[in-house]
Amino acid sequence: MEEKFNVVDQFGIDVFNEETMKQRLPKNVFKTLKKTIAEGKELDSSISDVVAAAMKDWAIEKGATHYTHWFQPMTGITAEKHDSFISPMGDGTVIMEFSGKELIKGEPDASSFPSGGIRATFEARGYTAWDPTSYAFVKEGSLYIPTAFYSYSGEALDKKTPLLRSMDVVSDAALRILRLFGNETTKRVVATVGAEQEYFLVNKETYDKRKDLIFTGRTLFGAPAPKGQELDDHYFGSIKERVADYMKDLDEHLWKLGITSKTKHNEVAPSQHENAPIFAPANLATDQNQLTMELMKKIALEHGLVCLLHEKPFAGINGSGKHDNWSLSTDDGQNLLNPGRSPMQNAQFLTFLAAIIKAVDEYSDLLRLSVASPGNDHRLGANEAPPAIISIFLGEELQAVVDALVEGKEYTGAGKQMFNVGVSSLPEFPKDSTDRNRTSPFAFTGNKFEFRMVGSNLNVAGPNTILNTIVANSLTEFADELEGVEKENFNEALHDLLVKTIKEHKRVIFNGNGYGDEWPVEAEKRGLLNLKSTVDAIPTLTAKKNIDLFKKFGVYSEIELHARQEILLENYSKVINIEALTAADMAKTEILPAVMKFAKDVCDIAASKKAIGVEPTVETEMAQKVNELTVALSDKAHALSDAVVKAQSIDGEEAKARFYHDEVFADMQSLRAVADELETIVGEEYWPYPTYDELLFNV
Ligand code: ADP
Ligand code: MG
Repeated sequence: MEEKFNVVDQFGIDVFNEETMKQRLPKNVFKTLKKTIAEGKELDSSISDVVAAAMKDWAIEKGATHYTHWFQPMTGITAEKHDSFISPMGDGTVIMEFSGKELIKGEPDASSFPSGGIRATFEARGYTAWDPTSYAFVKEGSLYIPTAFYSYSGEALDKKTPLLRSMDVVSDAALRILRLFGNETTKRVVATVGAEQEYFLVNKETYDKRKDLIFTGRTLFGAPAPKGQELDDHYFGSIKERVADYMKDLDEHLWKLGITSKTKHNEVAPSQHENAPIFAPANLATDQNQLTMELMKKIALEHGLVCLLHEKPFAGINGSGKHDNWSLSTDDGQNLLNPGRSPMQNAQFLTFLAAIIKAVDEYSDLLRLSVASPGNDHRLGANEAPPAIISIFLGEELQAVVDALVEGKEYTGAGKQMFNVGVSSLPEFPKDSTDRNRTSPFAFTGNKFEFRMVGSNLNVAGPNTILNTIVANSLTEFADELEGVEKENFNEALHDLLVKTIKEHKRVIFNGNGYGDEWPVEAEKRGLLNLKSTVDAIPTLTAKKNIDLFKKFGVYSEIELHARQEILLENYSKVINIEALTAADMAKTEILPAVMKFAKDVCDIAASKKAIGVEPTVETEMAQKVNELTVALSDKAHALSDAVVKAQSIDGEEAKARFYHDEVFADMQSLRAVADELETIVGEEYWPYPTYDELLFNV
């Protein structure tokens, strides 16, 4: 922590955050802006020119000459279009200008971003609008203004717009519940998010020799390293220094952008690490995570390293996720998922808990879908991965309370007692016991939920949009039911509602081992969904119940949902297409020639031995084996190429994606199996690219 302040003292913070606003804006303007931010409202046009001018002056002092509206189109990465502050005066002089209008609204060319058909139906124009609840910042000579991106007719073209809508929706619903508990002061409830980011580091030199890493971000071939996952201490010592330098550098850059991160070693897999920020409102956390990923990659290059954010860069060892810690907090800082001290606070906590249990059970398809991507398929539902079943972990203590509540029995927590809503207090929950189960996809961890299915590469806007919306839906249904109840009957009505809700949805609670073989069987008995691949998950987006949900809350229109479904399917096919082309190319132009050269040398030795009357037993056997595998490799590489050609001609995005999954991806896997076997036979100096040993243990 000490270091953090040194860095910031030395260079100053490059974020136009509340502190900076306070220093730079006239008092009344600051007050209006703060109110806008606190209530999630649109910026008042009467103050926008003043805010823009202050922002510009500040940015110029920070070395900025340009500004850009910064947005998050459906490509998953961020986009920007830089304009200069400079306005020519016509007499050869220039002035630095930036108006309120330029701050609030931009008009980048939308036609190069995926729109899923929205562009075809409507105008190609796209607009960006400043989201004043996310801080602007200066980076590399430009003022970055976080914005939402939408079409001429108002359809969201990005990931931020629906997230912002969902934050409003969950705030409104949660406020109705808070009022029922006598809270008249809270004006806004904020969804908070802390995204823990996992990543791998590899040597740039090694990386550059692998086409698969360059084109697809993951290794499409590679036999497991014989060393396994453990590292020798001494060796680890020298690695640490280089990685530690990187982490220090990264932290300093992040702190300057107001991202309070803590990079740390993660010894689960060799070369794998983690970065955890301090949580923030969901939209700000989304921006910060996008920036973190961008900086991780950029700074790695400066250290001669490459940061891999793919969900599964290497087969056989852990993949990378992004634990999405989520909670709801009042504008005065009360965490609504913190079991309180008084019986009434406990009852309020249990109400939010029941709402979440109901939401996760009713919309597990959407949660699953929200983390579906071709890369994340390797972490969910695939061979090496845990099943893609959504379930909730509550932990022993909370489970005991829930059981006692539902069954009207004593709970066995501190000093056995009945649990009466609004009357009894909850026992203390020891923090470590809530975090014991690392196999649960959706775990209660003391005062927040941790959604662990999110892939390392994903924009967290998606999963949090879903979480906010589905929880808003449960809370709204609760409020509808409870608002009409007389005060003296409130505790009883609430009690009945909670019991009924938990009874109906407790099938989604699972405290056991989520990685065990018994769980999918048990889950099926319970009627829980197991959507194994991205292609299985995507069509659920436009199921009637889901369209109804999003329409009810105005988070996505039906047009937007169909557009997003199209984009997701298209993206799946594109990613597998690139992977397949790369795999076929590597097999044909790199692996085959190397294997042939090796085979020739083996045969030459065999011939020489034979010539002097020595039986070439090993050579003959090896030549035969290699020959068999060479034939198989060639056949499979050609089969893969043929499958790609066929896939490209299929009509309809869903059928096409399905074919890419069932045929093309399967062909890639069987090609890989042959290549990986060859890798274990062919001499090391023949192999055309660096192996897992080199990639994983040479940083
Ligand atoms: P653990 O190590 O048990 O996972 P931490 O306290 O380290 O828990 O927190 C992990 C992540 O969760 C951090 O990014 C942290 O900021 C975030 N987090 C903590 N509290 C909340 C909250 N109320 N809402 C959202 N995220 C939170
Ligand atoms: Mg954690």
